Amino acid sequence: MAIRKIVMYPNDILEKHCQEVKKFDKKLGKLLDDMYETMIEYDGVGLAAPQIGVDARVAVVDIEDETGTIEMINPLILETKGEQTGPEGCLSFPGLFGEVSRPNYVKIEAFDRKGRKYTLEAEEFLARAIQHEIDHLDGVLFTSKVLKYLSEDELKGVEAE
Ligand SMILES: [Zn+2]
Repeated sequence: MAIRKIVMYPNDILEKHCQEVKKFDKKLGKLLDDMYETMIEYDGVGLAAPQIGVDARVAVVDIEDETGTIEMINPLILETKGEQTGPEGCLSFPGLFGEVSRPNYVKIEAFDRKGRKYTLEAEEFLARAIQHEIDHLDGVLFTSKVLKYLSEDELKGVEAE
């Protein structure tokens, strides 16, 4: 595994619609391992492939709950419900945090590294992290959804995606 360099905003790769993964091979496994290691190194709760300069619909999420690490390849949002508003940050925007509203519940379909399709339901913070990462794969950045930027005093233990 290797820690990759995080792409900072502005960079074109952060604003493009990423390509579908077609090959579920060793290279994809290595990419996921590197993404996971990089996310941990930078204390994030999620990381999308474009954030390490890779044009592929691949993301990892780990909010350190009982769900563990979620690997999302070619994820699709099947259903959303409700609304939540909370602080959000992004590893590609160091030090920038803002309040973002998102659906409180999300149901997704994605593939794991072996090409097995799965569905996953999530609520609250996990749902927020998943939606933030899937947005990255469409070139959508959280800054386009910020209602209000937050000062350091307003932030306590907010983790970046
Ligand atoms: Zn992000």
